[in-house]
This record gives sequence, structure tokens and C-alpha cells, in this order.
Amino acid sequence: MNLSAFTNTKLRAIAEKVLDGTPASADDARTMLATNDILELGLIANHVRRALHGDRVYYGVNMNLNYSNVCELRCPLCAFSRDACDPDAYTFSLEEIEQRVRDAVAFGIDEVHIVGGINPELGLDYFFEMLRRIKRVKSELFIVAFTAVEYDRFAKLGGMSLDELFKKFIDAGLGAIPGGGAEIFDEGVRTVLAPKKISGDRWLAVMRAAHRAGLRTNATMLYGHIEDAGHLVDHMSLIRDLQNETGGFKTFVPLAFHEEHTKVRAKKTVTGFDDLRVYAAARVFLHNVPHMKALWMYVGEKMAQVLLSFGVDDIGATYHYEKVVHAAGARTPDAGTEEGLRRLISSAGFVPVRSTAGYGA
Ligand code: SF4
Repeated sequence: MNLSAFTNTKLRAIAEKVLDGTPASADDARTMLATNDILELGLIANHVRRALHGDRVYYGVNMNLNYSNVCELRCPLCAFSRDACDPDAYTFSLEEIEQRVRDAVAFGIDEVHIVGGINPELGLDYFFEMLRRIKRVKSELFIVAFTAVEYDRFAKLGGMSLDELFKKFIDAGLGAIPGGGAEIFDEGVRTVLAPKKISGDRWLAVMRAAHRAGLRTNATMLYGHIEDAGHLVDHMSLIRDLQNETGGFKTFVPLAFHEEHTKVRAKKTVTGFDDLRVYAAARVFLHNVPHMKALWMYVGEKMAQVLLSFGVDDIGATYHYEKVVHAAGARTPDAGTEEGLRRLISSAGFVPVRSTAGYGA
């Protein structure tokens, strides 16, 4: 990184820290989240990204399994959930799940990504059996499943500790945890977005237990709703602290909020610069988390491609059957093709690497 390229003295000081191997401070993160000197910020994030991954960009060929949209929490931020009595409420039977997985295996998927609502009608056996059946369809399928919110319910349902629960899920075929439900940890913001969801502390406790069980997980952060920069910095600080303790986070995934069909009114519309600032600042600040993912479906294909030069090394996967983002009005198609994802990556000058959420581990 050429320090003489910097005209912004604060960003230059952050660049110097990065070259020295000194973690960026919370003040540095606030500076990055506020700057309009986007290319200089990009230089720092790109330096960190290339030091970790060179010109490699990871993508996956997977299916999404949103097994039920019935949810007793009905978070205001959610466009996906329904009450059980709603005409478009659904829950897949285990037979339907198995059939969907069989169909997707025919497309050549490597991975099944599973999340769903907190449906009070579903017992713990349904979830264990779901994983076992997927493995029976094809034992090599990598399963990345359930948010911390779901695991919290499972532990209560089974009357067991998280350690015991994770051990049982690993035995049933679980490979990794996707990291949703983190939203923003700040209690005030969380009360508006998702008042009935587990607290930020509990989310972190579930992840700590998952890491202790040997599972590697993602961490997400929802931005572009009612939060301010301080909330984002606090959120990332808590992730960084837990990562220092466990080393179990493999990927950080910022998610831009889509407000359509939700009950949350965003304070402002997310701009292209907002996306660039959040991803680049996260890449620099979360120096101890190896991967930074931009889900092309959330940010759009074009922005996903630009973000590859602003810290991102993973653009997500094909997501056959995705339902959650599209319920909130995402306009991207509901399944990418492998060819399309490879083209996005290579036409930005990077080398596509097909992977799963385990990154070959
Ligand atoms: S965000 Fe998750 S927990 Fe909240 S209502 Fe939607 S499905 Fe349920």
C-alpha cells in the first residue's frame, strides 16, 4: 500500500496502523464509516483483503431451505414470517424437504443452507431428522444451518445445554452456522427491529458455545435502518472481542436492510457509498475475522462486484429457492447460476473459487 497516495490524514494514519499490524480503534471505525474519500478507504480495505486472500473470490453452489415461514416472534424487521393461520403460511414436511434436496442435487449443489421461522408446532426431532435425511440424499452435502435464535429455542425445547445440543446436531450432520439473527446488538435498536428476539448477549453466548463445540460460524450485521454509526461500531467490537476469545468466526456478513413489506421505517435509503463504507470499514476493523461476505442477492450483482475491491472475498452462492430476501422486495433473481457468479468475479479481475461455507476445512 502506497502511503503517498493518501490525502486524508486520518485514513493515512489508519493505513499506517494496518501496515504495522495494529488493530484499528473504535474511533478509526467511525472515521471510516463517515468518510467520503472512498477510494482511499478502499485502498486500505483492499490491502487487508489481498493480504488474506490474494485475488481469490469464493462463491458457492447451494440451495436455500427456508423450511417454514410460520414464526411466533413476528419481528417488525421481517417480511418473511407469517402467523400459522395466514393463507400463505407454509411448513415443509420432511418428505418435501427430502424431495427438494434431491431436485437440487440434480443441479449439482454442494451445500444446503437452512433457516426458518420459530414455529411452535415443530419439535426437535423434526430438525435432527431434517439433517439426517439431507445427509442420506448425499452424504457429501455441506449443511450450514439455523440461526442463534433457532438454537436458543431448540435448547429450551430439548431441556439441554447448548453444548449438548451442538454435539447432537454435529452428529446429525451439521457443518457450520450461518450467523443470522445478530441484527444490531444494541438493546434500544433491537427493541424496535426485533423486540421478541434473543438479546445480543444471548446471541453471542450461543455463538461462544458453537465455537466451543468446534463449529465455525458467520456473524451478520444489519445496516441501513434506524441505526447510527456508533451502533455499527459497538456491534463489530463485540464480534471482534469474541473472535479474540474463540477464533470461531470464519466470515462477517454485513446485510443492507430491505424495508419493503416490513414494519420498520428506515431513517434513510442506503446509498452506494454507504455499502462501500460499511464493507470496507468492517474489513479493516475486523482484522481477526478471515472472510468478508457480500451476498450478491442483498447488494445487487453490480455492487457485489465493486465490493471485491473494497474488502470482500466471498459473494455468496447460487441460493436456489431463496425466500427471505425476496419477501422483503429484493429485485435480484432468486437463484444465481454458477456461470453468472464466475463471470461477475472474473470480469472484475479476480479468480473464482468454488467453495462451501466451510471453505474446504
Ligand atoms: S426475523 Fe426470524 S425470528 Fe424474526 S420474525 Fe422473521 S423468521 Fe421470525
